[in-house]
Amino acid sequence: MVRAQLGNIPIALVSATPSLETIVNAEQGRYESVHLVTRHAGAVLPEIDAIDLLKTPPDRGSWLSPPLRDAITETLAASEQALLFLNRRGYAPLTLCRRCGYRVQCPRCTAWLVEHRLAERLQCHHCGYSAPLPERCHSCNAEESLVACGPGVERLAEEVAMAFPQARTIIAASDNIYSPRAAAELVTQIETHQVDIVIGTQIIAKGYHFPLLTLVAAVDADLGLQGGDLRAAERTYQLLYQVAGRAGREEKPGRVLLQTYMAQHPVIEALTAGDREKFLAAEKDARRAMDMPPFGRLVALIISGTDEAAVDEGARNLGRTAPNNEMIRVLGPAPAPFALLRGRHRRRLLLKAKREVNVQAAVRDWLARARWPTKVRVQVDVDPYSFF
Ligand SMILES: [Zn+2]
Ligand SMILES: [Zn+2]
Repeated sequence: MVRAQLGNIPIALVSATPSLETIVNAEQGRYESVHLVTRHAGAVLPEIDAIDLLKTPPDRGSWLSPPLRDAITETLAASEQALLFLNRRGYAPLTLCRRCGYRVQCPRCTAWLVEHRLAERLQCHHCGYSAPLPERCHSCNAEESLVACGPGVERLAEEVAMAFPQARTIIAASDNIYSPRAAAELVTQIETHQVDIVIGTQIIAKGYHFPLLTLVAAVDADLGLQGGDLRAAERTYQLLYQVAGRAGREEKPGRVLLQTYMAQHPVIEALTAGDREKFLAAEKDARRAMDMPPFGRLVALIISGTDEAAVDEGARNLGRTAPNNEMIRVLGPAPAPFALLRGRHRRRLLLKAKREVNVQAAVRDWLARARWPTKVRVQVDVDPYSFF
């Protein structure tokens, strides 16, 4: 963008789901918007329905609700394909000791280790730490007391194999689709109908279109809505919208089902009503009321280091010298999301400012005034896309 501005070069931003920032820029006349009204190949937009899991829950220890099982059965009977979307790699996101309640955690991060049953290992998805599945609980030393909690794509594949033993299924996650060649093979397998059910993470969300894929289901549409992240709702909306776009892109109309415990959530309601404008309007009002981007500026400062006391001291120093006036407000220090990441302790300060404030200059002045313990690092993130 900056390069285009310097060289006076026209630039086109292309997206089916532009960010709120981009939309507001267009509304305020900084960008000009051009709409593509018809969908690829003229196919109709799929119908999106919510499955309220409070009313029709899956059986204990399973993740597919009766209505979703019925929809899969119908799809297979019509010799068509289904995509089950679950944005969670591995077998289970949490391993818990039944006896003492211990949760198996990464030694270097504030994060649980994820079981990868096919690889027979526990993995940290944040730092790459990996260990064999333990035979005993680290905390109470009990044997065979560890149980897997919650589903990842591997566990979902297990349930699908039990429920639909005739169906040919494939997992599409970065663990097995790790190269352009593997991705091309996957696409061929789906296109030539060598698989009936695809169980995939977000790597399957974008771009592809498969003529026989007429059912797309988000197994846990609520995933991502709970994060205390500024853009959690917007990103979940975009991701589910993109996934929904996989259904029925050619001649056959598609069907999209969202399994949710929060059928009244604005994101779910907007998706099922096909009302993107309404969702964006609500999201915009909420952000404007809190002076959040794109209506105000937000800067996250992450102070990190291996020595926890030094990190706390550095964070407190920054807090003491923080600029606070009618244009700028600083919150914190507080433990950052992932207070421990890759062996480094992390604290966070958030600077909120009116839109017209030059936040880069304000942060520069602020950091120049602060005194630093050695070996403590500060990372500055202006209008952060994510808080992690
Ligand atoms: Zn880790
Ligand atoms: Zn235990």
